[in-house]
Amino acid sequence: MGQRPIVAIGLPFLLFGWLISVGAAPRQDGLGSSDHAWLDAYRDPAARLIGEALASTFAWERLSTLTDTIGNRLSGSPALDRAIEWAVAEMKRDGLENVHTERVMVPKWVRGTESADIVEPFHHSMVMLGLGDSVGTPAAGIQAEVLTVHTFEELDANASRARGRVVFFNAPFTNYGETVRFRAAGPSRAARYGAVAVLVRSIGPDGLRTPHTGALTYTNDAPKIPAAAVSAEDADRLQRMTDRGARVVVRLKMEAHLDPDVESANVVGEIRGRERPDEVVLVSGHLDSWDVGAGATDDGGGCVVTWEALRLMKKLNLRPRRTVRVVLWTNEENGGRGGLAYRDQHRAELPKHVLMLESDGGVFRPLGFGFSGSERARQTVKAVASLLGGIGADQVNVGGGGADIGPSVAEAHIPSASLDVDGSKYFLIHHTPADTVDKIDPLEMAKCAAAVAVLAYVTADLPGRLGE
Ligand SMILES: [Zn+2]
Repeated sequence: MGQRPIVAIGLPFLLFGWLISVGAAPRQDGLGSSDHAWLDAYRDPAARLIGEALASTFAWERLSTLTDTIGNRLSGSPALDRAIEWAVAEMKRDGLENVHTERVMVPKWVRGTESADIVEPFHHSMVMLGLGDSVGTPAAGIQAEVLTVHTFEELDANASRARGRVVFFNAPFTNYGETVRFRAAGPSRAARYGAVAVLVRSIGPDGLRTPHTGALTYTNDAPKIPAAAVSAEDADRLQRMTDRGARVVVRLKMEAHLDPDVESANVVGEIRGRERPDEVVLVSGHLDSWDVGAGATDDGGGCVVTWEALRLMKKLNLRPRRTVRVVLWTNEENGGRGGLAYRDQHRAELPKHVLMLESDGGVFRPLGFGFSGSERARQTVKAVASLLGGIGADQVNVGGGGADIGPSVAEAHIPSASLDVDGSKYFLIHHTPADTVDKIDPLEMAKCAAAVAVLAYVTADLPGRLGE
């Protein structure tokens, strides 16, 4: 209710829109002020980066190639290995420098086949997805009566009724931060009271019978019980049956299991700095995804638009003073091992990181950046962002960061940024089979690439280090 489903907009329409707006997009009038005379030197390169990004659908085509030919890319899957090989080869083809992989050991969770059926009072097969990192059920499945709750407090109040039951968390989606706790913490909280399995209403706005997966986090003080998300429509059906006073019984079958860690890698490419190559501006997205959909918005798009920053510089022969480095992280979704490995492998070099940016909120219409750092650095980033007024990406909001850059940022107090975009569509397709490239507009994506490119280039080229 109140949520508009995303309609896959036809490519011809998108291209038409792009042709109309490209003429007007790179306008540079009304930007900045005389307070920032240094900024004038960057108006021309910024306009060229924006113009080059918007002159083609290269980024969208690259993302569609990744998602159509390789598809989703869960840690430990052959698909992620192929994506890593593909990214290395493509970065070399772009002419990026120092292209290589950095080894990371990652967990390998395997979903297997799975199902969730209502067996009483009427048979009904639900649309479900096991939660990432969940254990499986015995081969015959788990069959038990459902206990429906809407909050943790309600679970606690009904603790004596949870034993032997499938606890169903039916919390309406308000926002991700508020409701994701039922997915993450719900299974262990129910297991503490003797529950045998958990179902959660999918963490996302109501879609079109679409289940949302995502990781759970088991605690050590309770047995590990299997857990799955069901679509909003199936959640509503369970609720209606409960409300009618029926005894509701479900059968959950899941083959999910965790295999030993396997080798994976972060992918790295650079434009080496012309004066201070040891100082680094890092831009990034995560190449792994959940094992459903195509990992287009989460986070193939973030990988491609940050990588584009370097490709555009190379194409335009723009070499900044400092090094610009793109990192495509492994294992963001169920472990964060890529970000941790980078912190450990680059520990000595972290103080030389001028700025770290992660794009993991989708590549929809860009608004600007989130930024965390000193006030002085923020004023500089704001001035740089003013160069993006023509494409509507000139906001600098409080709080920038990302799951993968987080460990390095925390360790070395590095200024950090996120790409901020129109977030209205993100959680509708987040971790679902509907995370596919058709939800992404080539022009909006090109603008995202332009925004990252301008911020990365100018920050890497500033006469003095950002914030100094
Ligand atoms: Zn993500």
